[in-house]
Amino acid sequence: MSGPLDGKVAVVTGGGSGIGLAIASRLAADGAAVAVLDLNGDAADAAAASVKADGGEAIGLAVDVTDRAGVEAAVAAVVDQLGAPTILVNNAGLPQFGSFLKLDLDTWHRVIDVNLTGAFHCCQVVIPHMIEAGTGRIVNISSSSAQGGQQLMAAYVSSKAGMIGLTKSLALEFGRKGITVNTIPPGFIDTPMLRESDAQGQLGPGIDDAIARTPVRRVGRPEDIAAAAAFLARDDASYITGQVIGVNGGRNT
Ligand code: NAP
Repeated sequence: MSGPLDGKVAVVTGGGSGIGLAIASRLAADGAAVAVLDLNGDAADAAAASVKADGGEAIGLAVDVTDRAGVEAAVAAVVDQLGAPTILVNNAGLPQFGSFLKLDLDTWHRVIDVNLTGAFHCCQVVIPHMIEAGTGRIVNISSSSAQGGQQLMAAYVSSKAGMIGLTKSLALEFGRKGITVNTIPPGFIDTPMLRESDAQGQLGPGIDDAIARTPVRRVGRPEDIAAAAAFLARDDASYITGQVIGVNGGRNT
């Protein structure tokens, strides 16, 4: 494949499903060699196989982003098999629902670990490669829920608000190294996570009701997020950093 990301190597966490899968496919379609990291190794392999079937270059790796040694080993494998990564998309995440007063500490820690500390590990392991290359693009997937708050999701929203703070802090620290750091807070994207939340009755009146209240009158598609992430990954997005780029059909303005 050939495109604006020709010759780049990208790491996409949680790339085996939903938004991450769409991002991995889009980055590959734009020319990047993509490493799909996912807790679900089979899903990571399937995503890589799908990219390759479309003519792209990809590998799949089973990784829990909360496991520092696992992240280090995965990035070493990426360097070995594809080359040094200069694009990192921190997308792996899990939801959490329930009353704050019933939120137990283990759940709080698990949600923060996966949704925020996972990005901390990946950034610390990948950024040295970006510094060496003199360029880097980090895209952190946060959530529109962190922009306005969301009742009954305190741990999730806190983790995603942390992603926004991490984004802004790293943008300030590493801009002089040619590294940009931005965050996309998705709003209401049709993925397995959204469908599962709906099936559990966690989306209140449901998806159709939400569509009726969304200015563009449709549910978001994973490809909507992928298009924005791919743009932020390009060389010519070098003056965009520390930004929160909402992709939400106008649900948050
Ligand atoms: P998804 O379909 O559930 O995909 C999430 C992926 O992350 C899954 O493949 C999951 O693997 C993987 N993952 C979970 N924990 C992991 C870990 N510890 N290490 C590595 N991979 C892990 O969800 P999605 O809707 O595409 O969500 C992607 C991101 O967008 C998440 O960060 C989510 O919070 C955010 N987001 C989504 C929406 C939305 O409307 N869908 C809105 C706002 C924000 P398993 O399947 O094995 O668990």
